Amino acid sequence: MSKPLALDRITIHPVIEQQLPFMDMMKFFPSLSREQLDENRSWLQPEFVDRDDRLVICVQSFLIKTPHHKILIDTCVGNHKTRPARPAWHMMNSDRFEKSLTAAGVSVNDIDFVMCTHLHTDHVGWNTRLENGRWVPTFPRATYIMADRELAHWTQREKDNPQSVPWITDSVLPIIAAKRAKVVRSDFSFDDNIRFIPTPGHTIDHYSVLVGRTGKDALITGDMIHSPIQGKYPELGMLADYDSAQAGRTRRQVFDRFCDEPTIICAAHFPSLSTCRVHRWQAGYKFTAIEK
Ligand SMILES: [Zn+2]
Repeated sequence: MSKPLALDRITIHPVIEQQLPFMDMMKFFPSLSREQLDENRSWLQPEFVDRDDRLVICVQSFLIKTPHHKILIDTCVGNHKTRPARPAWHMMNSDRFEKSLTAAGVSVNDIDFVMCTHLHTDHVGWNTRLENGRWVPTFPRATYIMADRELAHWTQREKDNPQSVPWITDSVLPIIAAKRAKVVRSDFSFDDNIRFIPTPGHTIDHYSVLVGRTGKDALITGDMIHSPIQGKYPELGMLADYDSAQAGRTRRQVFDRFCDEPTIICAAHFPSLSTCRVHRWQAGYKFTAIEK
């Protein structure tokens, strides 16, 4: 269990569900060249890329504890979900997520808000759990905050072809049906300490979450970045991007704003260094571990 980050009276706790070699780098990043991979292998291996050139990813949520609220950012893959396209996520039956929540000092009943940075399968899974054959909200007291255009996009996809987006059917629509969703714009301010930053590209209306006050803050990125190699090459898109060119512009904009600043970056899919700082590096950016 990683130690929590402390920002004045707010703490941020990683809640890890899984860490695994996910996919061949060249497949995950379709425009990555063999030369680029060769050139960077020495610093990418073994943490970020395994010996078989597969991208290693962590699947994790971040729990934010403020004096007033307990907020979960994203909810990983979840249990009992039919995901035949992803064997590692198919019909999972693991207690790791719940144990990780317990280690962070909370239970599902304590969560006041769930913030969904975007509506992909590995970020909404624990929104719901199976109870007597029905999908019900995992966090019974929580309000789930989603971006309006993101929700509209995926709801339409589900209407057109439900088989292509099973996670919307089992992990998003039941939250709407249970009237637990709060639908906002992707530049929503939750309060003085928690603000959304629109980070579109990976999905249509993706948001990241800026926590704390200037000088003592952290940016929970969601999936605006998947691997530190996209720091070195910000334009490098991944295979499931909605608009890779826009995702590249988003990375440059966000990292320009936060590089060489005290802001801590919490990058959900980085297997280590998932809490780090960003610095300018050649024509891009690099990430360095923080002292906790
Ligand atoms: Zn993801």
